[in-house]
Amino acid sequence: MAHRIVLASNNAGKAREIAELLPETAAPLETQSAHDVPEAEETGTTFVENAIIKARNACRHTGLPAIADDSGIEVDALGGAPGVRSARFAGEQGDDDANNRLLVERLADVPAPERTARYYCVMVYMAHAEDPTPIIAEGSWEGWIQDQPRGNNGFGYDPYFRVRGHEATAAELDPATKNQASHRGQAMRRLAVELADDQERG
Ligand code: IMP
Repeated sequence: MAHRIVLASNNAGKAREIAELLPETAAPLETQSAHDVPEAEETGTTFVENAIIKARNACRHTGLPAIADDSGIEVDALGGAPGVRSARFAGEQGDDDANNRLLVERLADVPAPERTARYYCVMVYMAHAEDPTPIIAEGSWEGWIQDQPRGNNGFGYDPYFRVRGHEATAAELDPATKNQASHRGQAMRRLAVELADDQERG
């Protein structure tokens, strides 16, 4: 495992969850804001492209290895939207309230059984900006979108995302339970295994 790793995210909710998920043996994550890394423009049309863009940007500006995640929610009744545009669905980057309002509005005429959705997450580790073999791991988490918000934990769409297999929204789950089940938890655990294998191979 590298001695220093930069986390290519300025989203406090995601950063908190990723830090909680890193194995104790891993290098402590340094935030990209502590390195004054400018935000990368997410020009990809897939989660994996955007994760690589963000990781490469952080590597380039710090000279350090980087982990990036790109994630979002796909709603079946909206043809997979908001997808890679989840953070800026309503226009302004990271305006969770506006994004949630728009989502509920778009689904107003969709009956409950047809409101299926999933969170999706890609996590990428790049050893350096020109790394031709980034480590890529993914995870997804099934549920559906409800009309009314419930719960105060998590971030983003969590108060409206009712989790399959739980009588609760993602925002009603305690952080450990969310990390155990979530798209990000799955992706991060897979990434940690791949990283450990990679280090063993030298
Ligand atoms: P990005 O990966 O920074 O482009 O943005 C991902 C966006 O997807 C977030 O800003 C949220 O709107 C949404 N999202 C991703 N993961 C979660 C989650 O675990 N809970 C709630 N919203 C999420």
